Amino acid sequence: MNKSIKELHELLINNEITSEELIKESLEKSEIVQEKYNAFVTICHDAKSSAITDELISGIPFGVKDNFSTKGVLSTGSSNTLNNYVPFFNATVIERLFNKGAVMVNKTVLDEFGMGGTGTTGHTGTVLNPWDKTRMCAGSSAGSACAVAAGVYPYALGSDTGDSIRKPAAYCGIVGYKPTYGMLSRYGLFPFASSMDHVGVLSRSVEDAAIVVDAMKGIDENDMTTWDSSHINLTESLTGDVKCKKLFYIKELCDINNYDNPSDELKLHLENFNKTLELCKDLGVEVKEESVDQKVLNAIDSVYVVLSCAEATSNMSNLTGIIFGPRGNSTNITEMMKEHRTKGFSPLIKRRFVIGSYVLQSENQDRYFKNAQKLRRLIVDIMKKFFKEYDGLILPVGTGPAKTLVGEADKLDNNTSALDEHLQIGNFGGFPSITIPNGFVNNLPVGVNITGNCYDDANVLNIAYALESKMSYKGQIAKEVK
Ligand code: GLN
Repeated sequence: MNKSIKELHELLINNEITSEELIKESLEKSEIVQEKYNAFVTICHDAKSSAITDELISGIPFGVKDNFSTKGVLSTGSSNTLNNYVPFFNATVIERLFNKGAVMVNKTVLDEFGMGGTGTTGHTGTVLNPWDKTRMCAGSSAGSACAVAAGVYPYALGSDTGDSIRKPAAYCGIVGYKPTYGMLSRYGLFPFASSMDHVGVLSRSVEDAAIVVDAMKGIDENDMTTWDSSHINLTESLTGDVKCKKLFYIKELCDINNYDNPSDELKLHLENFNKTLELCKDLGVEVKEESVDQKVLNAIDSVYVVLSCAEATSNMSNLTGIIFGPRGNSTNITEMMKEHRTKGFSPLIKRRFVIGSYVLQSENQDRYFKNAQKLRRLIVDIMKKFFKEYDGLILPVGTGPAKTLVGEADKLDNNTSALDEHLQIGNFGGFPSITIPNGFVNNLPVGVNITGNCYDDANVLNIAYALESKMSYKGQIAKEVK
């Protein structure tokens, strides 16, 4: 199961292994990973093998974040408010994978409804990092990242509203790719902040990510944000030829002198990043430094908090315990809903609803919600201007390797730096964005991210692919150091 999709497909079509054997191995590994790292809400013991066809993913196991609706399989969003919810339909992306013969073997833990960046807030408990159990996987796609890094299967689905695929991928030493907004249908994904929600994939190589997205993409009449991408074949676009491509990085984020008392981890992380810039140059890619107003960079996270909390508050008002989820104990309907929500949501989520309600109140809307929308536009316009000249933005992911579990709560508690939050730019603009492993700091994996202009996924992925081929982290499986 440590192999790539193409390698597994070869073995399957040559009858050197069967889909049954792959599924059995994946389920056994799931048990071990569950025991050690708590990555799953459900393990699908009755997963059935499927026929091997020309489809590369046929017969191969995969995992699904538990905020995707899966027909007949518990789908909780890692929340007590849906701890008994079994959908009667599949999310479009899952249905498409099933139609091509992919086999779902488990549902993975997330931060409650995707609202978090630690992997510690799911109703079934904290997901531990498979490289070091004292550290977090980050979130919210914590279980998916953990399982792929531990070699349970070649890929798992995730969702990304702020960085939820791309940050756990970095912390677990794997690839995380969020395509352009609307390339993948969100129908059947539990909505968090609809203007920023993306479906994407966690895998151990750029090629695997491309294969899986190729298998899922396309117009869906149930998601009006989807667009026709039939002219794009991501897998075939991976030529590795990136000569004369142009990337930029943001000086204010990458210059160590911009940080007061930088930690050793941050120093090493930025050193790794600088080495990677050299690799880009070796590939014939031009890399330039650009400046963005520090005030704008510092505003990214506030904009994200205001907009995501506002959208989440509105989206999640349907969680009343009446249509789905455990019903509150009262004959009075208001009391029934109140009990369901009071008991069901964790305090961190409730706090987000308070923020969301506050910024949406008519007397506060101009000052907070509308202002945040204007800033979002400003940030996207700055990026779009850069993308006229460049193929992509390259930046280190976060401030170093995975953070320790002790004393780290939901990120809204922290005064985090712009370096920790810049991936949200990709969600503001709906930009294609991919994280790949970028070596190690203190024996723990760190990541580098490339974000490009909308609809330019093939180009962004090809640059990541070329860079990956210059490094030795492709396909790596977590080696537990602690
Ligand atoms: N960590 C961010 C948050 O707390 C992003 C989550 C996401 O992308 N789903 O909301």
